[in-house]
Amino acid sequence: MIALPVDLVLFDCDSTLTRIEGVDELARLRGVAEPVAALTAAAMVGKVSVEEVYGRRLELIRPDRDALEWLGRQYVASMVEGATEVVWVLRELGKEVHIISGGFRPAINALARALDIPEANVHAVDLHFDERGAYAGFDARSPLTRSGGKGDVVDQLIGGAARAMAIGDGVTDLEMKRAGVGFIGFGGVVRREPVAAGADVYVDSRSLDAVLPLILTSEELGRLGVKSAGG
Ligand SMILES: [Mg+2]
Repeated sequence: MIALPVDLVLFDCDSTLTRIEGVDELARLRGVAEPVAALTAAAMVGKVSVEEVYGRRLELIRPDRDALEWLGRQYVASMVEGATEVVWVLRELGKEVHIISGGFRPAINALARALDIPEANVHAVDLHFDERGAYAGFDARSPLTRSGGKGDVVDQLIGGAARAMAIGDGVTDLEMKRAGVGFIGFGGVVRREPVAAGADVYVDSRSLDAVLPLILTSEELGRLGVKSAGG
């Protein structure tokens, strides 16, 4: 674990700030849940590369603009307990809060708005739509569509100087662990053993507010009148 205080806090989105997985929700909405799940499973065991699966799942789902608006509403409605309070506290203490996700920007922006996180701090994948709002592709240049991409985004953000804490549920979130970046694994929605093994600290609590004593110094907690886990 890195020394506190930190300047930046980096959150994953799906199964970290919100209880759902956006790709799965969209796949269900479009009636392609099974083939999409099969592709995800193939990528997880290394049969297909992450890069290849990214485009193939979207080709099956072909989410239009309305579907992304719908997903944005689902994200907000399924927010993880404590998320609003945690983000509020961090911003109140002057921390920069970012969302780093391989998910789709239009939907994640909606969640960011609900959490009062500036859109400039949302790092996600842009989707393209035609003039009628139909799916017309994704930003294939985004590092977030590749394995290792989250690490590249974090490198750019911290620029070697800032101290940061990253929080996520997934194996790709472990990529955010860098020099100067601590990693808290969050198992409040789904517990994943490789993440629990690779994280500096693992939190199993349902509520995200369990991460605050791990991110803030006792002086910072005192300023908020929040009691640390140690009392
Ligand atoms: Mg996740």
